[in-house]
Amino acid sequence: MTTRIALIPGDGVGPEVMAEAEPLIDWARSRGHRLETVRLSYGADHYLSTGETLPEEAYADLRDGFDAVIFGAVGDPRIPDGRHAEEILLRLRRGLELTVNFRPCQPLPGLSRQGLHLEVFRENTEGAYCLQGSTEPGRAVDLAVHTEVAVLRLLEVAFARAQARGCALTLAHKANVLKHGHGLWVRVFQSLQAAHPDVPARGMHADALLCALVQDPAPFGVIAADNYLGDLISDLTAAFAGGMGTAPSLSWAPHRPFRCAVLAEPVHGSAPDIAGKGLANPVGMILSTALLFRHLGWESEAETVERAVAAAMRDGARTRDLGGSLSTAGMGAAIRDRLSG
Ligand code: ATP
Repeated sequence: MTTRIALIPGDGVGPEVMAEAEPLIDWARSRGHRLETVRLSYGADHYLSTGETLPEEAYADLRDGFDAVIFGAVGDPRIPDGRHAEEILLRLRRGLELTVNFRPCQPLPGLSRQGLHLEVFRENTEGAYCLQGSTEPGRAVDLAVHTEVAVLRLLEVAFARAQARGCALTLAHKANVLKHGHGLWVRVFQSLQAAHPDVPARGMHADALLCALVQDPAPFGVIAADNYLGDLISDLTAAFAGGMGTAPSLSWAPHRPFRCAVLAEPVHGSAPDIAGKGLANPVGMILSTALLFRHLGWESEAETVERAVAAAMRDGARTRDLGGSLSTAGMGAAIRDRLSG
């Protein structure tokens, strides 16, 4: 069976980092994987010239005709309300029910905090990012909707991962004030705790957790959180491992409601401040592609790409965000030069 992968480079640095991930897909094909890629041009330019964000037929084709999406980034200063970004990326996350957003943090060679191995599991489809609310004179409302089914789906994956790694699991919440939504998170967490007595699991107020993380992240293994807190916590953990340019992520639907059940994207956004200058670090995008390879069962390719990134870093290859002088393309080439096996 052929694996069909949609490539959506998007805006800003998205196309620049995607250009460094694409050769890895060709390389995986050269190693015997039957796969087909289709490039889709949805993003700010397409929206500004056609008025289309992600047309319904294109979304349905992605959902039913592809196995995976590799996504660059969306966001453009010409569209300050971010409408196209919402209707493309949030639509994919929510429509495809990609509940689990996995954001690992393992510092690469040469970066500080060697040996740290933190993983954030962020609920990806609801919470405060459900886009429900209103602005009235003198008053603004944002709703946060949490459903038991999505919370359970996310936490089951987090518990299974902590069990497999033999590490601690921490739930970040603010149930002391967000009594309804985060109260639900705590109840579901406690029910799973009972079913996993071997996992050292505890809930922590998110503010105390952030303080503890900054003081010493080493005791933390897996952290689970809702959409909003998970977004914040995973940007902090990205800072432990070189910053936004190196952080990968993978989103998936554990219950596989549709053929397309996984999306790889770097943690960073479209970074308009550095777009078009060859300054973006492609490592986050490349490591996200490796996570996708692993998810597809291509473990050897995933490991080979991760080893190549580590080898390039060990040999001193760096983009400017890490204090080096390589361009986006130069960093991508340094990594590809070290693919072997
Ligand atoms: P979003 O809301 O989509 O997460 P954002 O606007 O908050 O996006 P980013 O676009 O991720 O944030 O950019 C945050 C900072 O990180 C910017 O200063 C940007 O230049 C930097 N940055 C982002 N991506 C990269 C990258 N690939 N390489 C180097 N620096 C990056």
